[in-house]
Amino acid sequence: QAKQAGRNTLRFFDPVMQAVTVRRAMLESDLRQAVARDQLRLFYQVQVDATQRVTGVEALLRWQHPEHGMIPPGDFIPVAEESYLIVSIGRWVLETACRQLATWATRRETSGLSMAVNISPHQFQQPDFVAEVEATLEATRAPAERLKLELTETLFMEEPEIARATMRRLKTLGVRFSLDDFGTGYSSLSYLNRLPLDQLKIDQSFVRPLFEDSANEVISASIIQLGRNLGLEVIAEGVETDAHCQWLAEQGCDAYQGYLFSRPLPLDELEALLEVSACTTGR
Ligand code: C2E
Ligand code: MG
Ligand code: MG
Ligand code: MG
Repeated sequence: QAKQAGRNTLRFFDPVMQAVTVRRAMLESDLRQAVARDQLRLFYQVQVDATQRVTGVEALLRWQHPEHGMIPPGDFIPVAEESYLIVSIGRWVLETACRQLATWATRRETSGLSMAVNISPHQFQQPDFVAEVEATLEATRAPAERLKLELTETLFMEEPEIARATMRRLKTLGVRFSLDDFGTGYSSLSYLNRLPLDQLKIDQSFVRPLFEDSANEVISASIIQLGRNLGLEVIAEGVETDAHCQWLAEQGCDAYQGYLFSRPLPLDELEALLEVSACTTGR
């Protein structure tokens, strides 16, 4: 009894815990304003094919905070998820990414680029998510077949049938799907076949330390084989060295993303990079 009370008291008055709680509350109230105050930014990281030609980008969110500077998504997406703020933030991301995709579609040099957008589970599970994607594609005139929605395995753990139905409705719009962070979830493989997926994305936790532990090689090679057998494209994320890229290519990997090619960049820097790579590949 005394022990339990002691523990509760400790937790209640623990200044460290209290600081964490206060920080979280501040973060959440700041984040609530972030969309309205125009503090969100999209960075873009290139994706390349087997010939190392740029085929598209992934849109990656940043928060330009007036006091704390540029905040990476790992520091605020979890709070946004828990508070459901991710729904309005995700709407902003989708619209901004689609507007950019539409702009690229009108220029010859960039017309073939695809845009990958991360979709959080809560956002995907909104009853009007399909309608939102449809309306956004219409309003921005972005080409649906170049929009790639990145989903994670957690979506298929609780109510896989509902998620599958939503994917099929989205598929009729023409969008594509990538399964992000593949290999890190707990879901069964049996559902893979039954989803209208286009791409598997090998998680960077296997790719970055590829040669440090033979398990990472085994897992990466297996995912590539699995993708091939299911007729899915496989992309590796977190490709940082030539040796990694070559090894993955030998296993039959189709596409790559990582610091070897480029970090996530603000729009102007990305467009400068695209111009350079268009020159060097003679496009
Ligand atoms: P993710 O979708 O798996 O994105 C890949 C992350 O790996 C990005 O981190 C990217 O910068 C990083 N990365 C890519 N290549 C390399 C590499 O070669 N080396 C290293 N060290 N890192 C690499 P970032 O931008 O910090 O994003 C982290 C996560 O935040 C994303 O993981 C995604 O889950 C989430 N996120 C980002 N933007 C959004 C968004 O708009 N909506 C949602 N719901 N989540 C997002
Ligand atoms: Mg992603
Ligand atoms: Mg990923
Ligand atoms: Mg990841």
